[in-house]
Amino acid sequence: MICLGIESTAHTFGIGIISYNTKNSKHRPETTILANCKASFTSKKAGMIPSQVADHHVDVCDKIITQAMQKAKLRLKDIDMISYSASPGIGHTLRIGAMVARSLALRLKKLKLNVPVIPVNHCIAHLEIGRLLTKAKDPILLYVSGANTQIISYEAGKYRIIGETLDIGIGNFLDTLARELNLGFPGGPKIQELAKKGKRFIELPYSIKGMDMNFGGLLTYIKQLIKKPQFFDEYTIEDLCFSVQETIFALMTEVAERALAHCDKNELLLGGGVACNKRLQEMCTIMCKGRGAQCFIPDNQYLIDNGAMIAWLGVLEYSAGNYISLKNNVVKNAKKITIAPYLRTDDIEIRYR
Ligand code: AMP
Ligand code: MG
Repeated sequence: MICLGIESTAHTFGIGIISYNTKNSKHRPETTILANCKASFTSKKAGMIPSQVADHHVDVCDKIITQAMQKAKLRLKDIDMISYSASPGIGHTLRIGAMVARSLALRLKKLKLNVPVIPVNHCIAHLEIGRLLTKAKDPILLYVSGANTQIISYEAGKYRIIGETLDIGIGNFLDTLARELNLGFPGGPKIQELAKKGKRFIELPYSIKGMDMNFGGLLTYIKQLIKKPQFFDEYTIEDLCFSVQETIFALMTEVAERALAHCDKNELLLGGGVACNKRLQEMCTIMCKGRGAQCFIPDNQYLIDNGAMIAWLGVLEYSAGNYISLKNNVVKNAKKITIAPYLRTDDIEIRYR
C-alpha cells in the first residue's frame, strides 16, 4: 500500500509518501518513508498572515507533489490512498490541503482508481511518527510547535491533553519575540543561535499552573523590558535570548517530568518544531536520565511539520476503517473532505491502538 500525506496546517506545505507492507511480518509491518518534501513560508518582517500563507501553499503545491513523486520514483496511479491534515490549524491553509486531497482523488477517479481519502489530526500525527521512528511504545508526548503546546498521554482509547498552554503556543511566543527583536520569521532557530553567546541570566517571570503554562504575560514583560533605554546598556540581545530559553524550556521540562510521574510512564517523546531546539533536548534528556526514563527525539525533518507523519497516520486510520470513499456519488462524498480548525486532540477516538 502506498499512502500520500498532505500537510498544510500552518506555514508548511508538505507531501510525504509512505509504503506500507503487512505481508512480510505479522508483528512489525514493513514501513518505508519514500519521500518527505516540503516548502515553508518565511518572512523577514511580518509573521504569518493567513491569506499570504495560503497563497504560498497554492504557489508551491504542484512543485512539491512533483518533487515527492520523483523522490519516491512513483507515478500518480501508484498511490493507493491519500491522507491530509484536517485539524487543527489555520482555516485558510487547511483548506488548501483538503482541496489538493480532493483534486488528486478526483483525478485518480478519472483513471478509474477509487482511492480512499483520510482526514487526520495533525497533533496525533506528531505522536505517531515518533512512535514509528523511535523505540517509544507508550510515551508522554511533549508537543511544542508554533500554535500548539501540549503534554499528551494515551489513556483509555484517546490521546488526552494533560497539560497545555493557556494562551499562545511556545513557538508563536518565540516568533513574536523575534519579530520584536527584528530577527524575522521563524524566530526559534535565530533565538537558539543568539542564546549560545548569552552570558548573563536575566530573571524572568516563570508562569506555570499545575500542568498548564502560559507565555503571554512573559511576552508583555519582555516587550516592556526592552523598551527601557538602559536595558541594552546592561544586557545584550544574546543575554536576553539565553535567559528566555532557560526560562521557558525549564518550564516545559518541569511539566514533562510531572506528566511522567503522574501517568506512571517512563518514556518521553519530543514533537513539534520547537523540539528541534538543542537546549530543550538537552534539558529533557537530563531530566529523563535523572528519573530512569528514556527520552526519544526523532530527526528534525520529522519534528517540524511534515507530510510523512500525515501519510503514516493515514495508514493507521485507514487500518481502523476511518476513510472517505468517492466511489458512488462524487459530489456528496467529496463534500465530506472537509476541515476542522479547532478540533482538539482528545475529541478523537483512537481505534487502531
Ligand atoms: P511546527 O509548527 O511544529 O512546524 O513548529 C514551528 C515552530 O518551531 C516555529 O515557531 C519556529 O520558530 C520553531 N522552531 C523551529 N526550530 C527551532 C529551534 N531550533 N528552536 C526553537 N524553536 C524552533
Ligand atoms: Mg505541528
